[in-house]
Amino acid sequence: MTTFPTTDFVPATTPGATRTRIRGAVLSAAPGHLEVHELELDDWLAPEEVRVRVEACGLCHSDLHMIDGELPVVMPTVPGHEIAGTVEAVGPAVTDLAPGDRVVACLSMFCGTCAECRAGRTFLCDRRNDLGRAERPVPRLLRDGEPVGQVAGLGGLAERTVLHRNSVVRVTPDVPVDRAALLGCAVLTGVGSALHGAGVRPGDSVAVIGCGGVGLNVVQGARLAGATRIVAIDLGADKLELARRFGATDTVDAGSTDPVAAVVELTGGVDHAFDVVGRQATVTQAVGMVRVGRTAYVVGIPPVGEQLVLPGLPLVTSAKGVRGLLMGANHFPRDIPVLADLYLQGRLELDALVSARIPLDEADEGFAQMRRGQATRVVVTFD
Ligand SMILES: [Zn+2]
Ligand SMILES: [Zn+2]
Repeated sequence: MTTFPTTDFVPATTPGATRTRIRGAVLSAAPGHLEVHELELDDWLAPEEVRVRVEACGLCHSDLHMIDGELPVVMPTVPGHEIAGTVEAVGPAVTDLAPGDRVVACLSMFCGTCAECRAGRTFLCDRRNDLGRAERPVPRLLRDGEPVGQVAGLGGLAERTVLHRNSVVRVTPDVPVDRAALLGCAVLTGVGSALHGAGVRPGDSVAVIGCGGVGLNVVQGARLAGATRIVAIDLGADKLELARRFGATDTVDAGSTDPVAAVVELTGGVDHAFDVVGRQATVTQAVGMVRVGRTAYVVGIPPVGEQLVLPGLPLVTSAKGVRGLLMGANHFPRDIPVLADLYLQGRLELDALVSARIPLDEADEGFAQMRRGQATRVVVTFD
């Protein structure tokens, strides 16, 4: 395993004894803006923690939802959960990671012992939102003496972060770091939704509504699964052209055509429809596109308060299913290294996902690009 030059950082032996000054993008109110502040990171590591020098962090729509006040989050906090970086130090209970390892983080942190983890569904871990992360003698991050949180226990929009060891996995450094970061959320979620969530099979037909960072990965997940008909649906020729590069066999511009009628005409109704937008209108379209007895999947995160109302009678008489899929039904320690291998073999498209690389100071502007629908994936990179 190649290792990277790293600092000679040695963890403190006492919580709160010494701290490292870092820069991080902080959200203090929502709807609001990210502001880069100087923060202090505790140099002590709990037994199962890992300190990571962040090298790249992708900007994700769920972060944007938090900034826009559509997803609740405790403030102030550091967003960013699509992280690739290098391990600087590990807590005393971490035996399988070492300083210099390249890692990718994932928000599907898991305990390994609850009922869902024991059943093999670590992405549904009953304890994923705490894992003892709050039970620290002193805060990990401070700004002017006040505690600052880490969204999803990650907080990747900062120069360094301290993570639970079950929220990171080692990956080969052969994958460039800006693309490796995307394996932790957009790619894992999109590809996994097709492979693990829906169980797309060779010969199946698939429709994907919304071709942003996650939707393009549902498209290529369906391609990897052997789907022979993959219909990509979005607004505008540019996005649809990009979807073809990821494996779409057909495209529908929902701005000029009724997407349900178009998909039914193309395929007679698909085996799997994925809504990667998360709104009433697109979920209804997804249900309308699937054949009788098939399932429409909600992959996009609906904003808090969004209600999904569906016509009841046809749902029953056509025996259709509607199902939410979370984070590609992943077991990320298994999935992320596989995705890295597929990229290195030329079978997974990552290069075309990155629409911009920006420094930390421009993170807020990066989210503004997403809000305007201009970005596939904006990645903050750290020197
Ligand atoms: Zn995400
Ligand atoms: Zn668990």
